Amino acid sequence: MIVQRASNLLKRLLAPRDGPIILMYHRVGAPPCDPAQLAVTADNLAQQIEALKARRTIVPLGWLAERRARGLPVDGTAVITFDDGYADVLHNGLPVLARLDCPATIFLATGTIGTVTNMWWDVLARLLLASETLPAEIEVALPGRRHRIAIEQGSARSRARAYGWISEAVRPLVSAARDAVVEDLARQIRGGREDISSDRLMTPEEILQWHRKGMFDIGAHTVSHASLTALPAAAQHAEIAESCRACAALTGEAPTSFAYPYGHHDPRAVHAAASAGISAAVTTEKRKVRASEHPLTLPRYYVGNWQADDFAMRLSL
Ligand SMILES: [Zn+2]
Repeated sequence: MIVQRASNLLKRLLAPRDGPIILMYHRVGAPPCDPAQLAVTADNLAQQIEALKARRTIVPLGWLAERRARGLPVDGTAVITFDDGYADVLHNGLPVLARLDCPATIFLATGTIGTVTNMWWDVLARLLLASETLPAEIEVALPGRRHRIAIEQGSARSRARAYGWISEAVRPLVSAARDAVVEDLARQIRGGREDISSDRLMTPEEILQWHRKGMFDIGAHTVSHASLTALPAAAQHAEIAESCRACAALTGEAPTSFAYPYGHHDPRAVHAAASAGISAAVTTEKRKVRASEHPLTLPRYYVGNWQADDFAMRLSL
């Protein structure tokens, strides 16, 4: 134990005092259908946080933003974030984070709270990748055109190709069109949409459980998980401002952080985040935070279901 502590201390002293890193997680658990590899097991999350703590100081996102705004040193720090508000983060992740005394922020797409319980990509993945059988041909009802995709029976590759193509095609659509495509595919493949409990998002009560723990923070993530760069300025502004208002109505505190869905942002979206009172907004650009970084386009590293050594290597800890 003493040797381990001394070794950790040595690592910390020898670690380069370089820029902060912000980590992006989504889910904690082992969902059977997770083609985008959004989930990390609780065991690997614990290993990753321990590896991180041995080398860096984990701080809340708000703390980092405030220190940077005041020109105070932030080198050697790390921030943990979770996108989308999956319930498994509360049930499987929070116990690990609490035990390791690790602060974290969850970004909520507020239109989904208490309404739709599964994200569109989970519904789509289960339909195309986990349905026992698929029709020989499926129709994708994109706005203004219907696209037909032939499915080779018994071919996992054919299903994966269809899943990839449809995901790319619907991601930039406005939410009503995106959801209509998914509903239509659900009708063709299974006779209707089926949401499942293991892929669900947090209820308002669960969000408060997360928020009440003190070191666990809530940030906004638009209303409809929109690709902001596909929207006109007024719609960008509404997506951001309304999601901030919904977070504030839930927790009683106005959020100061925001995550751009899919990392998509442009100068108008950045401006809309600023006017909604956001002081720290994160993207999905994989690198450390530079001293000159704009506070509303902070880069962030994706984290996969990696064990400690792999994690440390991939993030160059
Ligand atoms: Zn998201």
